[in-house]
Amino acid sequence: MSGTLSAGEGLVRTGLDVDAVRRALPRVEPYAVPLRVARPGFRRFWAKGIAAVAMPWAIYLTEPIFARVETGAEGGRDGLLIVHELAHIDQYVRLGPIRHVVKYIADYLRGRVRGLSHWEAYRAVSLEVEAREIAATFQTGTGPR
Ligand SMILES: [Zn+2]
Repeated sequence: MSGTLSAGEGLVRTGLDVDAVRRALPRVEPYAVPLRVARPGFRRFWAKGIAAVAMPWAIYLTEPIFARVETGAEGGRDGLLIVHELAHIDQYVRLGPIRHVVKYIADYLRGRVRGLSHWEAYRAVSLEVEAREIAATFQTGTGPR
């Protein structure tokens, strides 16, 4: 495991176009967002199967995924994960961290009250839907114009 990598460098190593990401997420500068390995004490709070978590100041990855981004081994698949997490950082900038968290939890609980499972409620959170939709525009490898 090595030191530091920015989201911008991660996008380049996984073969994504940084300028296309800037156009899709104009509030975020990918080179200003650090990628970090999540420490075990932090990961303990992650739901099973979570690969990355965006905080307002950095994107935290599991150690194997960080290593994959460093080498670019999985290419675009990990690049899309970085775009997804950058979309959450764009939301933090847009809404402010507190409104972001309140909206996120309220959406999740609304889903649970409607009878959705944990994973269904998580996937139905509007901020997750938006991040998935933005990342999906990059699946062709070109991104939005
Ligand atoms: Zn997400």
